[in-house]
Amino acid sequence: NNEEAAAQAAAADADSGAPTIFDKIIAKEIPSTIVYEDEKVLAFRDISPQAPVHVLVIPKFRDGLTQLGKAEARHEEILGHLLYAAKIVAEKEGILDGFRVVINSGPTACQSVYHLHLHVLGGRQMKWPPG
Ligand code: 5GP
Repeated sequence: NNEEAAAQAAAADADSGAPTIFDKIIAKEIPSTIVYEDEKVLAFRDISPQAPVHVLVIPKFRDGLTQLGKAEARHEEILGHLLYAAKIVAEKEGILDGFRVVINSGPTACQSVYHLHLHVLGGRQMKWPPG
């Protein structure tokens, strides 16, 4: 039906594979507050924090990973590295006692930037279930 067609069109447009704002952050063309960086990943504070600690961890080379739903076997190493980097961020931020890692994949999950990113959230009591 029309609604489904519109949703599909929006989804296709959302993940067009075009460069995102995160490319400019990686290139340091637009400023961000970097919390952790190595040769493969960059972690920086979210511009619109949803908790006292809200850091985004992203791969420096997107390599087709616009969203987790597009992951392939070749991405296993970077996916593991991103998750370990999330732990390093939690440690640096002093929230190892309790933190949440979120990945929104696709329009239905409210993904807004199509460059894979892990949200690391903490510094307050988290609630469950998330919205
Ligand atoms: P998503 O909704 O795709 O899971 O998360 C995208 C996140 O990127 C949002 O939490 C949003 O606040 C953050 N964000 C969008 N643009 C920028 C920006 O230019 N700088 C920073 N630091 N964060 C951004």
